[in-house]
Amino acid sequence: MADGLDKPKFAFFRGQIVPFEQATVSVMTHALNYGTAVFGGLRAYWNADEEQLFIFRPQSHFQRLLQSAALMRIHLPYTADDLTDILADLLRHEGFRENCYARPLAYKAGELINVRLHNIPDEFTLFAVPFGAYIANEDGAHVCFSAWRRVDDNAIPARGKVAGAYANSALIKSDALLGGYDEALVLNQEGHVTEASAANVFIVRKGVVYTPPPQADVLEGIVRGTLIQLMRDDLHLEVIERDIDRTECYVADEILLCGTGVQVAAVTQIEHRPVGTGRMGSITRSVRDLFFDVVAGRVEKYRDWLTPVYMPESVR
Ligand code: PMP
Repeated sequence: MADGLDKPKFAFFRGQIVPFEQATVSVMTHALNYGTAVFGGLRAYWNADEEQLFIFRPQSHFQRLLQSAALMRIHLPYTADDLTDILADLLRHEGFRENCYARPLAYKAGELINVRLHNIPDEFTLFAVPFGAYIANEDGAHVCFSAWRRVDDNAIPARGKVAGAYANSALIKSDALLGGYDEALVLNQEGHVTEASAANVFIVRKGVVYTPPPQADVLEGIVRGTLIQLMRDDLHLEVIERDIDRTECYVADEILLCGTGVQVAAVTQIEHRPVGTGRMGSITRSVRDLFFDVVAGRVEKYRDWLTPVYMPESVR
């Protein structure tokens, strides 16, 4: 998350919306000690013409959150619909009229010293903040390959957004930034490309788009799925999910990163080599422009991906 954020005014905490300062936990909290939490990250986009805030694909995000929770034996008394309603309510309390980011967190809330998952009380919390860009050079990022490997499905499943697994992402990201790069691509134990520290990756070679498959130790990103659909159905591109070798990235015509935080970012340099022309490529530009139209509600056929936060003017 970007540094220097304004604090939220409210949080959903222990079943209700409370002033943000009241949403605190004990230092003995299991999740704080052992990373036994799962989280999500959603964006809502402000459409100034319609004076509306649109949450992007909340159902998909909350279904994935519930799936991650199930992996970690965290039981929540909410459905994806309930969680969508809770988020919309929270955003109305905040009264945001700008783009923002929401962070749902389901966690092992017991206060005990014992590493396990069962028979520990669970809790759910949610907060939201105004939010802009996540990486500095969205239209020309310089990436490296991390010396770290991605968490393995048989260690901590990458397909779940498990808090403890983000120690892996943090190691990757800090080494990349301190090494002078904007982001890093990470290989799995087999040596294939997985994703970046908190974003999925696509490469383009000779007009065909490739992305690692879900079984390559990647998060099944909501934006990843969105871009696959937009590229196939709207841009009429061939998109192939298959393992990608490290050196394919060096010879790719285009590389892009995508995710809720990153949105759609062009990678224009990889380990001091230009990617393609060294500028954002045409496929990246097209899908990026389309993505921003979709999330703002400017593409009619994808309006059902958006949940409006405020009542329409006529019934206000
Ligand atoms: N991979 C990882 C490791 C991530 O943390 C994220 C951000 N949630 C993504 C990919 C992108 O996922 P999404 O499009 O669902 O935000």
